[in-house]
Order: sequence, then C-alpha cells, then structure tokens
Amino acid sequence: MRVPFVDLKAQYNRVRAEIEPAMRDILERSAFIGGAAVADFERRFAEYCGVGHAVGVGNGTDALAIALRSLGVGQGDEVITVANSFIASSEAITMAGAKVVFVDCDPSTYTMDVDKLAKAITPRTKAVIPVHLYGRPADMVEICALARQHGLKVVEDAAQAHGATLGGRRCGSFGDAACFSFYPGKNLGAYGDAGAVVTNDGALAEHIRMIANHGRLTKYDHALEGVNSRLDALQAVVLGVKMNHIEIWTEERRAAAALYREHLAGTGLALPDDPADGRHVYHLFVTRVEDPERVRAALGAAGIDSGSHYPVALPNLSAYRYLGHRPEDFPVASAYQGQLISLPMYPEITAEQVAYVCDHLKKAIFQ
Ligand SMILES: *Cc1c(COP(=O)(O)O)cnc(C)c1O
Repeated sequence: MRVPFVDLKAQYNRVRAEIEPAMRDILERSAFIGGAAVADFERRFAEYCGVGHAVGVGNGTDALAIALRSLGVGQGDEVITVANSFIASSEAITMAGAKVVFVDCDPSTYTMDVDKLAKAITPRTKAVIPVHLYGRPADMVEICALARQHGLKVVEDAAQAHGATLGGRRCGSFGDAACFSFYPGKNLGAYGDAGAVVTNDGALAEHIRMIANHGRLTKYDHALEGVNSRLDALQAVVLGVKMNHIEIWTEERRAAAALYREHLAGTGLALPDDPADGRHVYHLFVTRVEDPERVRAALGAAGIDSGSHYPVALPNLSAYRYLGHRPEDFPVASAYQGQLISLPMYPEITAEQVAYVCDHLKKAIFQ
C-alpha cells in the first residue's frame, strides 16, 4: 500500500468538473486581477468565518504582515508570537518593521501558553499573534482578555485553521484581524499562492485593501506606499468552488483523526483531540515519538510518507540567532522539536490507509 502525506490530485479529481469551466470562464473574460470573482469569494469567505469583511491578498505571510501594518504596528514595537510555528508567523513581524518576541507553547495543546504570554508583555508590546497550530484553536478567550487588559492588538494566524471553532465561533472571528493562507496544501487550498485577511472592522478592511494594492485610493492616486499583494481571479474561482466542499472535507479529516485515535488508543502516544467546546480541523495530525527519524524511515520503507512540523522551534533557527536565545528559554518547544511526527492527513485518506499507517507506526515504536 502507498500512503502519501497529502493527496492534492485526489481532491482535484473530485472537483475538476466544477473547477475547469470556472477557470475557463476567467480565461475567456481575461480579467485576471480583482473583479467580480474575487469580490464574490471575499464575501463568501467572510460569511464562512462569521465576520464582516475579507480582503484577498497574495499569500498568508503577506496577510499577516499587512494586517500588522494596518493596525499601526511598526518600528520600535514588539509583537509576541509562539515558539512552535511556521516561520511566517514571526517573519511577518519583521516585515512590518517590529521586533519578534517568542513565547513557549503549552505542552498539551501546542498552542501559545497564556501564562508565558502574560510574562512576555512589556510597555513596547503592540500586538500578539496566536497561531491555531495544526488546526487546533488557540486559547482565544484568555488571550483576547489579556490583550484587552494591556491594550494589545490581536492578529490570529489561522493559516492552518479554516473552519475551526471555539465556543461556537469560528477561528478568524476573535482577533482585531485574522490571517488565512490558501497555499495548495492548506485545508482550503488554491492552485498557487493566495491568502486573506478577515476582520469585523470595515475601516480596517479598507486600509488593508489599500496597503495590499500599492496604497491606492484610485488608479494613480496613492495615499501611501503599500505593497503588491492581491488575490487573482483564477485563484478566487478555485477557492470559490472549494468553498462548496470545505465542510465535507473538514468532516472527513475529523473522521480520519477519530480513526487514528481509535487505532492508537492504549499506546501511550499523545494524540490530538478537540478542545473543550471547540472543533479541531486537523490540518495536521501530529504525535510525538522518541526517535522520529528512525520511525519515519520505517514508515517510509512501508510506503508511508510522514512529516515533521516543525523540526526546529523558531527561536532555535539560525534566522533568529541574533535574538540570543538558548533552547532552555523555550523548554516545551525545544524538547518537542526533536520528537514531532505528522501522520498522513487529507480528506480522501481511507480507513484502510489509516489502519495501515497505525499498524506500521506501532511496529516501528514497539518492536
Ligand atoms: C502556511 C502558513 C503561513 C503562511 O502562509 P503562506 O500562504 O505560505 O505565505 C503562516 N502561518 C502558518 C502557521 C502557516 O502554516
């Protein structure tokens, strides 16, 4: 048996009859940037997130940087994010001109440790970027309460959490703004790079739209220097078609996760699950083993692809050597970085494939 880590071709096969005519229609019209297709997707995606506005941008990293900038974050400000994430979460802080501050993650949820967030706030702190890592909602109630108390802006990194919920509210509806990636492998993926910022603040949405489009008021009237980071019409129609299926695909991911839990019950492995009163959307299904390299090689020999998210915690990357951190400053993220293993996860994965992965995982660990 072959079990890929993700299977984008299998998903394409399910929607090609809808996607191909929609893309052909854009080609026939030859209006490639902005326009009705983008506006239509933005409206539907905002509604999906339960917020007033969505602004399509070029990718999820730009979404974060533009959101920070729109909230007035810049030179001299500190922005706090979490040690265990993809580098885009912190890269965007530097892109906005601010200083990166990391806090450790919680050992059971992998998301931002709220007590450590409280300790990292200084008079220079301007914003916080919680990450809904792997598709699990961060502790938004506590984080937003703390942010309000200290006058901080909250920008959710929801790049892995399309459709996740907490207390009946969608991830993306808690912060001053929230950022999504539609990178092809994300739960809602385009056929190229794409992203969006969502917010309930209409004036902020217009500011975000202006920054993302050269600071434009009109075609040649520029209120400020912005960037060029726009959603294009081809990606918008791909995303529009996929919006029709995202709920089914999410339920399929959740069913695969439940099967993994069933097969791996009693092994002692730490397995992801829903938060209390929330919905995990399993962008990734991550567990920990003592020697992931050996285990991943054994899975590979059985035709099973796996991943590591992320093999080096952000503060320990060469890119952040200048901050002068030691691994022991982030004990949880630093301990976990050498243990994480991501198992195959995508809507089309079959029950037989999940069982096969679990058999070989148990063999690799316990024999
Ligand atoms: C993918 C991702 C991003 C960045 O998105 P891009 O569209 O690739 O720029 C940001 N944060 C997290 C947590 C991600 O997984």
